[in-house]
Amino acid sequence: MNTKLKYFKKILNDRGIKPTYQRLKILEYLSKNMKNHPTVEMIHEELLKDIPIISLTTVYNTLNAFLEKGLVDGVTITGTETRYDLDASSHHHFLCKECGKIIDIEVPCAFAEGEKTVVRGNRIEEVHGYFKGICKECTDSFKNKTKKSNISRSKTGQPNR
Ligand SMILES: [Zn+2]
Ligand SMILES: [Zn+2]
Repeated sequence: MNTKLKYFKKILNDRGIKPTYQRLKILEYLSKNMKNHPTVEMIHEELLKDIPIISLTTVYNTLNAFLEKGLVDGVTITGTETRYDLDASSHHHFLCKECGKIIDIEVPCAFAEGEKTVVRGNRIEEVHGYFKGICKECTDSFKNKTKKSNISRSKTGQPNR
């Protein structure tokens, strides 16, 4: 077993999750695609290439277990699906309305940084900030399109980072 898998095994053991091969592969996928904030379907589809017998239910149940143990965070920015984030620390997300990608966005936030935790006696334990707009790449490609309209640049709609 390589060191990376050993490390993943320890992460699961430490949280009381039995490190089965499929769970390890799901964790490995999340660590490789952390910035994509994938859906359960995206993870399942990709893992099928390696493990043809893995079911969507297994992936779903595993992610739920990861969520319960605080190993991942569920990002519900689109309102219709949960996107999974291995970075479970408090941070904000940005959804591009053009290409649909979800990225981490750094905005000054005393709550996310843990500097402020109480508002009128209410203690804040989790911070989820959602921002929506047009990402830098889409803005740039729109500018390019208007500059040289004869060159069409296709966007697949698949988030690539
Ligand atoms: Zn975009
Ligand atoms: Zn994130």
